[in-house]
Amino acid sequence: MIKEKKSGQLIVISAPSGCGKGSVINGLLEKNKNMWLSVSTTSRKIRENDIPGKTYNFVTKDEFEKLIKEDFFLEYTNYVGNYYGTPKGTIKEKLDQGIDVILEIEIEGAANIKKLVPEAIFIFILPPSLKTMVKRLKKRGTDSKEKILERFHTAYKEINEVTKYNYVVVNDILENAIDKVDAIIKAEKCRVDRIEEVFVDTKEEEIHELLMEDDKDFDNENISEKID
Ligand code: 5GP
Repeated sequence: MIKEKKSGQLIVISAPSGCGKGSVINGLLEKNKNMWLSVSTTSRKIRENDIPGKTYNFVTKDEFEKLIKEDFFLEYTNYVGNYYGTPKGTIKEKLDQGIDVILEIEIEGAANIKKLVPEAIFIFILPPSLKTMVKRLKKRGTDSKEKILERFHTAYKEINEVTKYNYVVVNDILENAIDKVDAIIKAEKCRVDRIEEVFVDTKEEEIHELLMEDDKDFDNENISEKID
């Protein structure tokens, strides 16, 4: 009856540092095999949990600046003294293949993507409280106290940007947060603007024949009795 757009959805997820968005995204990827997380390039230091090539592609500041000149990025930003950028690379290819693409980026990058792809889904993840956020930031143990404070101030400012997004999810219980983001994406796929064509899939004569058929199951009297 309907032909939906075949292309994948571009999903932009932002969250202040210390919101546990990495865990939410991992849960989402486990639930959806037809989803791909874009790997950003960064000039920040590698953390203990980082897997080069998987969490990020790590480069030096000079290498990053060279890539900017080569027009390698769809968007990039300088966040708390480090460069982060989304490579243009495979995103369009994945979307054309019908694969949903997640960009896990901060708010400035998200605003730039909104200009380029307004139909993308913009989801903001919040921590249940500022206390939780600070605890998570400290737990990483890789950043200095000053860096943690800088990250916290940036994160605090970012929370005010939530209204620029389409959806907000509080990451209080991880499973619930994953389910909510998953539900948002599934609901977005049912939007009428994803319908390319509405068509009649049965000939008028066939419908007429069906209507004329002596249908034993369709007992009008029975139905009215049930309603009474
Ligand atoms: P972290 O250092 O904690 O991994 O990331 C710091 C911030 O950079 C996070 O808010 C993360 O979403 C953001 N980020 C990661 N990759 C990109 C990117 O490619 N572009 C932009 N604009 N932000 C990014």
